[in-house]
Formats: sequence, structure tokens, C-alpha cells
Amino acid sequence: MKFVDEYRDPERARALSKALHERVTRPWTLMEICGGQTHSIMRYGVDQLLPESVRLVHGPGCPVCVTPTELIDKAIHIARQPGVILTSFGDMLRVPGTRDDLLRAKSEGADVRMVYSPLDAVTIAQKNPDKQVVFFAVGFETTAPPNAMAVVRAHQLQLSNFSILASHVLVPPAIRALLDAPDNIVQGFLAAGHVCTIMGTREYDPLAEQYRIPIVVTGFEPVDLLQGIFLAITALEAGQSGVQNQYARSVTRDGNVTAQQVIRKVFRVCDRAWRGIGIIPRSGLELQDDYATYDANRRFDLSGVTTVESTVCRAGEVLRGVLRPTECPAFGVTCNPENPLGAPMVSSEGACAAYFRYGKLHRKSAE
Ligand code: SF4
Repeated sequence: MKFVDEYRDPERARALSKALHERVTRPWTLMEICGGQTHSIMRYGVDQLLPESVRLVHGPGCPVCVTPTELIDKAIHIARQPGVILTSFGDMLRVPGTRDDLLRAKSEGADVRMVYSPLDAVTIAQKNPDKQVVFFAVGFETTAPPNAMAVVRAHQLQLSNFSILASHVLVPPAIRALLDAPDNIVQGFLAAGHVCTIMGTREYDPLAEQYRIPIVVTGFEPVDLLQGIFLAITALEAGQSGVQNQYARSVTRDGNVTAQQVIRKVFRVCDRAWRGIGIIPRSGLELQDDYATYDANRRFDLSGVTTVESTVCRAGEVLRGVLRPTECPAFGVTCNPENPLGAPMVSSEGACAAYFRYGKLHRKSAE
């Protein structure tokens, strides 16, 4: 299959691994931003092909994982109101809030439905005019365009029973926050290819320039990742900074301008809380005034929602790359995919889930 097979070619992977071993002369730490990249690294054993002196740490690029507990609590509270249908992508249903998750609310009678597209939620609203239909809209720049389109569509249809509970987050402010943190150890980044397919590469230039770091926009297959790592290490070894595009088969400098326009039409930038990290200035999207009527925060009384953060789950440290999932005392002991104590163990892009799922493969191959 074009654009897949050649990026899973073991020969190319081995050649890149050899080139990396020859290139590196000292220790370097890179962060892959995206949870999808983390899963590929673990699934294909990319980390085992690296020189020991190249350390990969995993970033906050899992939208489910960074959704704050308070928002999960709000979604559960809304779902339990009479006459409400709460719609969400499947991953969100099992993410623990303070006391419960959405699946528990569903088992207790709340009308919680899994959808595959925000437009499915609009259709549900059309078919259920006597119900309030809420879509739990989380995600990075990749999911913002379809979520914005759902709001536009609801507006066109003049649906008064549709709203979204939005927790959109943006990658560049998160990179800035990580680099500004006193405990930062990251010297270069693999940026997420799919985010840059929408947003282009331009907005990473000021970051690379200000912090004098390499940022390589990278895809998701093992050869993509090894190429991205090779480019970043080559830049570090040469003392160079700047943005490079490994994922040129999908990413352009300007990105998808039409998608960006629909994001700007419906959303505006706001401060946003990230789970375990706190508020990052100008790191989220909220509805523009013209579409404020579709904001579930305004439609429902959420003043009674109280949130208590877990004292066990160390998701914040995992999402900042300062703690490996296996270093969390709960990992595999009291926390596993069947009984997750935190979002990173639930999500298909969560680092803890990746280590749990593929760590056994790594141990087996090491035996
Ligand atoms: S292993 Fe579980 S408890 Fe520990 S950080 Fe990951 S999700 Fe949280």
C-alpha cells in the first residue's frame, strides 16, 4: 500500500538505525508530541533501534489525556440531566472523573451515546427535537475543523437543541509551556504530522527560533519516526535549530487554509486547563460570540460541579515527559486498561496504555 508499506520497510528502518548510531556523539533527549506517535514507537519497537544516548520522552499530545477532570465531571453532570443525550467519541466514556465516568452514568440510565463524527450528533439532535443533544468536543487542531463544521451545520439547521462541551487544545502553546518549565529536559521535538496537515509548519518557526531547538514535523509509521529522529539528532549534533518537515507527503508550510478558516469562523483562542499541567495561556479554543448559544457551559447550570483531582494518578508528570508510565507506582498494579485510574491508561493514544499494551512485547524480545 503506497505511503504505508515503504514506511514500514524493515530494511529502511535498519539503515536509519545504523545511520543514527554513526551520527550521535553524546546524549540527547527528544520528545514526540503526539500520543499516536508514542503508540507507533512502542508498537514497532522504534525505541529499541535507537542508540542508548538518544532518549525519547512522551509528550502531552493525547487529547483525551489532557482533558481536565473538571470537564469530565461537567460532562457526567450534563449527561445525568433529564431530557439530555450526551454524545462523545468512545475513548472519553471510560476516562475517570472525580467519582465516576460516562460509562457508569450510562449504566445508571443516562442517555450517553458513542458517535464517530460530530455530524452524527447533529443528526441525533435533528431526530430528537424534544431532547437537548450535547457533543463532548475534545481534541487538538485536527478535530477542531469537523467540530466547527458541526456547529455551523446546527446553525444552518437552526437547531436550538444542539450544543458542544468544548475542550479544544493547541500544540504550540503546550510546547512553549514545556520549554519554559524549570524541569524541562527536552532538547528537540517531533511535531505531530496530522496537526501540521491542518495548521502547516509556520507557527513552529518562532518557537524554534526563540528556544534555539530543532522541531521536525513527523509522521506516524516507523520509518517516518526514525527519519524524524535522525533529522532532529543531525541538527542537534550540528548545533542547528529550526523547523524541518519529514512528513512532506501530507504537510505543507501553509497547511489546510480552508480548515483553518472554519476553525477561526467558529472558535477563538482562549486560556485552557490541561490535565495535570494546569492552565496554559492561549492554548485552547472556545466558541466565538456568534456561536455562543451552542456552548453547553452556557446552556446548563454547572455551578454545582465540584472536582477533586486524583492523588494516585501521575498523569501530569507522564504528560510532561518527566515520568515514564512504568515509573508510576500504580502502573500495572492498581491501574490497567480494565481498571484505569487515569486517562493515559484509557485512551488509544495514552502513553500508559501504550506501555501496558506493548511493553510485554519489548520484554519478550529482550529475553
Ligand atoms: S499508570 Fe495509571 S495511575 Fe499511573 S499515571 Fe498512568 S494512568 Fe495515571
